[in-house]
Amino acid sequence: MHCPFCAAEDTKVIDSRLVAEGGQVRRRRECLSCHERFTTYEAAELVMPRIIKQNGNREPFDEDKLRAGLQRALEKRPVSVEAVEAVLTNLKAALRATGEREVDSRDLGELVMDELKQLDQVAYVRFASVYRSFQDIAEFRDAIERLEAEPRQPAKGA
Ligand SMILES: [Zn+2]
Repeated sequence: MHCPFCAAEDTKVIDSRLVAEGGQVRRRRECLSCHERFTTYEAAELVMPRIIKQNGNREPFDEDKLRAGLQRALEKRPVSVEAVEAVLTNLKAALRATGEREVDSRDLGELVMDELKQLDQVAYVRFASVYRSFQDIAEFRDAIERLEAEPRQPAKGA
């Protein structure tokens, strides 16, 4: 990068170390022209994709809103706050892993359901019933029957 003092193009790195618990690289640089020294920090850019709502509007990813939705589904369920935060962390990682700048809200909903299904089956059905807005009662019953047909897992974080 250009020297901030004289704008020369050539600078060299004279020291490089991890900082912020490994989340950043701090580099000491020296300008080859004027020999001034300066520091740069490099960090991964973790931009969450925007969410495409069903009506086509785009809105920024809202972690608080997602947490509130999870908490509604998990109301009075034996699931710890830590387990909910772990789900949020997984969801954010999954969204970033798409590499997309925009993600359909339905795809986000499917990701949430996958996580809830492993965490707490009652919460999963609650969320799915709101999110998928089951067309009729038969579809809802099918979803529950599919759940019951699957091997039981102990609830995580109970
Ligand atoms: Zn310089």
